[in-house]
Amino acid sequence: MGTMGGSVAHADPAADYPAALVALEAKIHLVSKSGDRTVEASEFFLDAFTTAMEPGEIVVDVQVPVEDSTEGYKYEKLAHPASGFP
Ligand SMILES: Cc1cc2nc3c(=O)[nH]c(=O)nc-3n(C[C@H](O)[C@H](O)[C@H](O)COP(=O)(O)OP(=O)(O)OC[C@H]3O[C@@H](n4cnc5c(N)ncnc54)[C@H](O)[C@@H]3O)c2cc1C
Repeated sequence: MGTMGGSVAHADPAADYPAALVALEAKIHLVSKSGDRTVEASEFFLDAFTTAMEPGEIVVDVQVPVEDSTEGYKYEKLAHPASGFP
């Protein structure tokens, strides 16, 4: 069991959320003592296990735009047989 914020902050390239959030053009909402900011998912994930979070920031929510269209999206997870990761 885990949280979406934890998975996003961890930025494991094998995790389910990061690639999906980049594809969906999601925004990551960060909060710290000095304020808050919103970062595009494509700019949040910098590298494997590396994000644009600054020390003291936490992920508080993730915003996924919902389009008013008939288009749909599908995420198909092809799980590795050993790890279960996609
Ligand atoms: C056996 C196993 C199988 C797994 N399979 C999958 C899989 O199939 N798909 C997949 O996507 N993932 C998989 N995972 C990874 C798992 O989903 C993530 O480790 C988990 O979602 C992380 O969330 P958490 O809340 O447990 O974070 P934690 O492990 O508690 O935290 C991860 C890191 O992020 C920090 N953190 C936590 N929350 C926040 C926050 N809100 N803001 C800022 N920093 C924060 C923590 O300090 C820590 O450094 C698997 C893990 C294991 C052990």
